[in-house]
Amino acid sequence: MNTASILLISGPSGCGKSTMLEYIYKHISQYYFSISTTTRAQRVGEVDGVDYFFVSKEHFEKDIQNGHFLEWAKVHDNYYGTSKKPITQAINDGKLIIFDIDVQGFHILKESMGRYITSVFITTKSKSDLENRLIKRAKDSPQDIQTRLANAAIEMKQAHEYDYIIINDDLEQSSKNLLNIISVMDLKTSDTKHKKLIHSWVN
Ligand code: 5GP
Repeated sequence: MNTASILLISGPSGCGKSTMLEYIYKHISQYYFSISTTTRAQRVGEVDGVDYFFVSKEHFEKDIQNGHFLEWAKVHDNYYGTSKKPITQAINDGKLIIFDIDVQGFHILKESMGRYITSVFITTKSKSDLENRLIKRAKDSPQDIQTRLANAAIEMKQAHEYDYIIINDDLEQSSKNLLNIISVMDLKTSDTKHKKLIHSWVN
């Protein structure tokens, strides 16, 4: 049976994470993308149950009380969270689990599931580059763009805590770099199957 592993990516909204993941999905199989639950408004083109599970604030707060979340955080004044159940299942199935969550979520999961995690921080080469992308994609109000830029600066301060950082200046190259990271995840010494091999050598 395969051992589960987690690819956890973070980075400012608009840095190209979703587009890079679309590239990744064409090149890998047997993965599970963790679909988060959020109270933020659904954007044009987003599908409920595919991009996110969109719920009301009341619904989300009830789920917090009922202990449904593995982790949750307030980002840009909205709630975002990862449900426990599907992740437990994916771990038992030995899948590669992909998370796109913020820095707060990264800290929480690192505490509880650090042994499974390979973390990657994705960003643009400058704040103005990110601002231009957010303006160009035209999905957020000017006020939201300013909030996202301020949040990006806070997150950048913690980028060094991740295993890898990708500066997404060239989308194709950055996507290939992310794929390379995935392909070496299996070689990590922390992987359980290597522990078994080492054990069989020394005993
Ligand atoms: P967006 O609104 O642009 O889709 O996402 C905003 C931020 O929320 C991104 O940094 C994204 O990584 C983060 N995010 C999405 N889902 C989750 C989640 O389940 N937990 C946490 N902690 N952050 C999340």
